Amino acid sequence: MCNRLIQGLNTYWLLVMVSAPEWINQASESQCYNSAFQLSDAAVRAGLAQLGLLQAAQSLPTEVKTMVAAAGLSAEQLGELRQAALDQARATATAALDLYTGKSGLSENGVENKAINAIRELMKQLERLTSQGEMAEIAQALMVVAAAEYGSSTAAGAMQWLSGHLYRCPNGHPYVIGNCGGAMERALCPECGQEIGGINHALQTGNARATDVLENLQLVAPESGSVSR
Ligand SMILES: [Zn+2]
Repeated sequence: MCNRLIQGLNTYWLLVMVSAPEWINQASESQCYNSAFQLSDAAVRAGLAQLGLLQAAQSLPTEVKTMVAAAGLSAEQLGELRQAALDQARATATAALDLYTGKSGLSENGVENKAINAIRELMKQLERLTSQGEMAEIAQALMVVAAAEYGSSTAAGAMQWLSGHLYRCPNGHPYVIGNCGGAMERALCPECGQEIGGINHALQTGNARATDVLENLQLVAPESGSVSR
């Protein structure tokens, strides 16, 4: 299974990062715009499939992860590959849309294009994946804080602690209140400078529990396993 996974990753890597950009370039230079769009559509889809494989690899059980690492793919490298695949897919989609609205003259003449419409949809998926990635980073940072404060090294324990201690500033930036979790002092949001916290357990105007952040964290947080400090 481990070898299959690595084979799959390599195959997609060649297709998405090496071959497809070259084919698209050739099609575009020969003014075969429709082919360029169709190839771009396929390349972005392959990129999304690659991202799916990488996500699967990142969530593998520890034993399999060790095997993957032994085959030359550390967790860090998987993260880097994920970022590179995401960047490449986004670059391919952006280039196709630019070609459509620009040099090809198709958009100008009101010509609809199936592949372009598909690429627009795929672009939305890519944006969702990007914000998921950012949310995963925030989650990791918050879990470390929670683990240090709560004294638990499990993700579930940290999540539980966070649910009573995580708030958001008037502009939606998350922050953590320590101790009992009630607001006992005022401060300024390090992101935007708005007043955060409060006095006598009463939050400043515009502040609230960060339920939306918590929900998103729950989606990206590992269900079990320990939090690295
Ligand atoms: Zn703020």
